[in-house]
Amino acid sequence: MALFKSRPNVRPRGATPFEASNKVSLLGFLRSRFWRNQWVAATVVAVSLALLLGVGGDDRETTPEHLTGSSSAVNNTSEIPPTALSDASLASSKEQTKPPVPSEQPWHEELVRNGDNLSLIFARAGFSDRDVYQVTKADGGNALRKIYPGETISFQTSAQGGLYRVRHRESALKWSTFTREDEHYRTDVTVREPEVFEQSATMRIKSSLFIAGQDAGLSHKVIMDLAGIFGGVIDFALDPRVGDTIELVYEEAWIDGEKYADGEIIAAAFTNKGETFQAYRYTDTHGDKNYYNEAGVSMRKAFLKAPLDFTRVSSNFNPNRLHPIYKTKRPHRGTDYAAPTGTPVYAAGDGRVVEAGYTRPNGNYVFIQHGESYKTHYLHLHKRRVNTGERVKQGDVIGTVGSTGSATGPHLHYEFLVNGVHRNPRSVHKSLPKAKSLPDSELPRFMRTVARPEQQLASLKNTQNLASAAVQGGSSGQ
Ligand SMILES: [Zn+2]
Repeated sequence: MALFKSRPNVRPRGATPFEASNKVSLLGFLRSRFWRNQWVAATVVAVSLALLLGVGGDDRETTPEHLTGSSSAVNNTSEIPPTALSDASLASSKEQTKPPVPSEQPWHEELVRNGDNLSLIFARAGFSDRDVYQVTKADGGNALRKIYPGETISFQTSAQGGLYRVRHRESALKWSTFTREDEHYRTDVTVREPEVFEQSATMRIKSSLFIAGQDAGLSHKVIMDLAGIFGGVIDFALDPRVGDTIELVYEEAWIDGEKYADGEIIAAAFTNKGETFQAYRYTDTHGDKNYYNEAGVSMRKAFLKAPLDFTRVSSNFNPNRLHPIYKTKRPHRGTDYAAPTGTPVYAAGDGRVVEAGYTRPNGNYVFIQHGESYKTHYLHLHKRRVNTGERVKQGDVIGTVGSTGSATGPHLHYEFLVNGVHRNPRSVHKSLPKAKSLPDSELPRFMRTVARPEQQLASLKNTQNLASAAVQGGSSGQ
């Protein structure tokens, strides 16, 4: 705790108890299918992001706030973390476990590699299959058979030279220790809870959300989460304009005074061309967690505004350049997204694939029917990932961007049809049915929950505006 507060470049605003439990799984939010797809897609494109580096946002303010209070930050740790083992700590743990060895032997650590199994790892450490057998037959020892690359398995011998202790470290949050007692091994499982802190950031877009986010020091996960939350109201490929601003409050998980992972976004505001969209995390009385705008209307819309991984879309994009094949003014009935071949294309909404095939003009294409009235078309795909008749969920990858058919360069041609009539995908959202709102019974509780983050966003926006005004006035802005 003290360690955290003394961290440089950090301006604590005082401990503020936070209503959400710090035991909430950080990955819980990612479990829904949509988010998982975003996440998978995010991982896929990670490599390409470096290429996007260049100009970006500014005025970042980093302000972690202690969410949990010192007392709740106590871990249910019964043991010293493996990375923190020292002679002193070993000595104290020895007292508790009636020493069968006169003095502690050093630990030997093996990293789990691709294609590893326990026999191989034990052998590398100088132990036998018989040792493997004995350890794994301990209570809970079978779990040791499920090992993954990147985990570590550490060994300690007794003074007599035989295997005394094995430790399987799955992460900084969980490890199991198998300690020899006479003829069998005792199992101790240690699970720790990270401390959850609140962070905030502000960004001003100079070219893309992604670059602004990176400049603000946001992780890939937080940026993708942000894009996912606003994915129904903002087309991150085509909507953002220079000068758009973003304010957000999010969580960070810390372990032993070090950042362990990014958590969920608590609240965010995006001002696009002067219009501000806000989103707040809210867990309703049934325990369902979702994002809502300030009035309690769900951020999750029936359709994504941009049905592809926006991080790969070229920013200086001129759709008219893409159809020189048709020398006459061919009516363009959709939106074109220029993006590299292989960029994931998502189902814009839940529905059923009514056609997936190939024609000369369309190339590889997918048509999806959504309910009675709506249909979306995806043309020129490099690969199709779905077949006719398949059900899809919003955010499912249905194919990848390509240049098949009448396309001169890799791009997604996206069409939106209402009752069989082509509509402009960029503006059709305004005439779609409204997203679900929280019922009246939830609203008072919702309003209480979002009151504080609403203030935080407002104050971040003020700070950002002041900084920007100061910069325009010629001063440093700090
Ligand atoms: Zn087109």
